[in-house]
Amino acid sequence: MSNVHTKTLAQLAAGLRAKEFSSAELTRLFLDRIEASQPVLNAFISVTREQALAAAEAADRELAASRGGTLTGVPIAHKDIFCTAGVRTTCGSRMLDNFVSPYDATLVAKLKAAGVVMLGKANMDEFAMGSSNETSYYGPVRNPWNTDLVPGGSSGGSAAAVAARLAPAATATDTGGSIRQPAALCGVTGLKPTYGRVSRYGMIAFASSLDQGGIITTTAQDAALILREMAGFDANDSTSVDTPVPDYAASLNAPLAGLKIGLLKEFFDKGLDPENERRIREALATYEKLGATLREVSLPNLPLSVPAYYVVAPAECSSNLARFDGVRFGHRCKEPRDLLDLYKRSRGEGFGAEVKRRIMTGTYVLSAGYYDAYYLKAQKVRQLITTDFTRAFGEVDVLMGPTTPTTAFAIGAKTSDPITMYLNDIYTIGANLAGLPAMSIPCGFVQGLPVGLQLVGPHFSEAKLLNVAHLYQRETEWHTRVPERYA
Ligand code: GLN
Repeated sequence: MSNVHTKTLAQLAAGLRAKEFSSAELTRLFLDRIEASQPVLNAFISVTREQALAAAEAADRELAASRGGTLTGVPIAHKDIFCTAGVRTTCGSRMLDNFVSPYDATLVAKLKAAGVVMLGKANMDEFAMGSSNETSYYGPVRNPWNTDLVPGGSSGGSAAAVAARLAPAATATDTGGSIRQPAALCGVTGLKPTYGRVSRYGMIAFASSLDQGGIITTTAQDAALILREMAGFDANDSTSVDTPVPDYAASLNAPLAGLKIGLLKEFFDKGLDPENERRIREALATYEKLGATLREVSLPNLPLSVPAYYVVAPAECSSNLARFDGVRFGHRCKEPRDLLDLYKRSRGEGFGAEVKRRIMTGTYVLSAGYYDAYYLKAQKVRQLITTDFTRAFGEVDVLMGPTTPTTAFAIGAKTSDPITMYLNDIYTIGANLAGLPAMSIPCGFVQGLPVGLQLVGPHFSEAKLLNVAHLYQRETEWHTRVPERYA
């Protein structure tokens, strides 16, 4: 079992089939790593050892009988935003500290049906609102490359867990960058699918028109294997799209000759750290070697994405989070005097500062008199940005640029200034506003810290993105690097 934790999910799946190890052995190995790392990294909110071992034993019986699918017996982590029957789902909030969902999210159910074993629930920013995993009620997650630094957010637990090889993969969600941004800062591969590709049923809502479930892995090949199982139409999510799910792994090796890559002019701006830019340019040169051509494209409205997002997302969150009223779900204050007191104190005690800030902003921009000036205006800007992307995809196959302006920053460095924090999302939000699939893949290091290259494609181009990412990973070894302490 030496170095088994550094194997990719594809290798682990093959090892299980070849009986090199059992699912129970594998599951125990990752559970032990999680538990050993917890005091430092804090990547998990719940570790579900007993359920995991029971599921692993069931998977081993399937494997012994030569039954099951490609992923049978492979252990992974779920972001704690996905409802899991019988296992608490906190969404990183005191509000849901004791919440046990009566059902599984569709994504969880699909992976369970595929034989995947859940190791536990990954830490995250409260209600997925954050860029650094510092808004979690359960404390910050630390970056495995340097534990004084943030792992990124909101899927910081998922990204840190995969980076430290506590799990070969972890589910995640991306409303404005929460899969790609932590993937970049932790040096792992993150895939945010097209809006509607993966069901949102049972994924606790933040901003419903932006939220999308996806996956963090070490390789594009692993992301292809998992996406195949997660994606698809779901009658329980009216925005899930009824279009066939391709075999993403089948096209991973398609040659890139003639691929037209667009460089997002607006992303190579003065906010981008020069050393980070250098790593991105080197990655682009690798693509040229693989036969791709580069051309600069401009999306003139893209610089408006942060202000538009920080109107639309809070507006939707203020509506979605209205359900947490102390009556039906989650935290209830002690001895309420009357109904109003119950609402006020339950919400006041249950939500943290960032969530409250968003609810207040959202309520304000939706209120009579301000709706036209803010919300409607932001929706118009959103449409302009979407049109910019559509125009760009008339010229190029895939857009590339940085995922983040800098490498990981220090814990506490940006918590006192929300605007500075929001600006971390400057390169990721556009894809969410337009509902596009996007990835972040490791493309080098700056002073020992990982840098992410972002890929954005047209709607439902996941197969192409995974192909483009996979061929880069065949040429390079950045994605195989593991932080020393976890190697
Ligand atoms: N950082 C962004 C925010 O705070 C995006 C979060 C996300 O994608 N869930 O809203």
